[in-house]
Amino acid sequence: MANYGKILLAADFSEFNAETAERAQAVAAQFGGELSILHVVEPAPLNDPLYGGILPLDFDLTGQMVEAAQVRLAELAEHLGVPKDRRWIEVGSPKVEIVRVATEQSIDLIVIGTHGRRGMAALLGSTASSVIHHASCDVLTVRLRDA
Ligand code: AMP
Repeated sequence: MANYGKILLAADFSEFNAETAERAQAVAAQFGGELSILHVVEPAPLNDPLYGGILPLDFDLTGQMVEAAQVRLAELAEHLGVPKDRRWIEVGSPKVEIVRVATEQSIDLIVIGTHGRRGMAALLGSTASSVIHHASCDVLTVRLRDA
């Protein structure tokens, strides 16, 4: 039987993600595993000269997004009973960071949502599709309700 001792929930905080979070919690409970949560903040493209005249040069939108994400992450983690040392925020591309963190933390199972709107073709390029292809551990995809 698989040993999912370390389980990583990829959380985007969307309204559809509650089911993914619940599934991750249930799998962790079933296997007696440790649940961790990762949220990735995608940097805002504010260095574009297009916005140069509108926003002050030192305006740190990414930093503000990280602060907002910390609040959301804390709420979700409290709800799921995940301790502070297993709540992670990274800045970058979600598909890259999820795989990187999973490798670094020796994760056994990644739990991630998928819309699956129009079959596998539509999934190409989505976060879940990329993570499935690049992760070296198992990946549980949870079909989101808007599918
Ligand atoms: P998407 O490809 O944007 O439909 O996202 C599919 C799933 O990838 C979501 O349900 C989350 O589990 C995960 N995901 C997407 N964006 C992020 C993010 N910024 N941080 C962590 N996980 C994410």
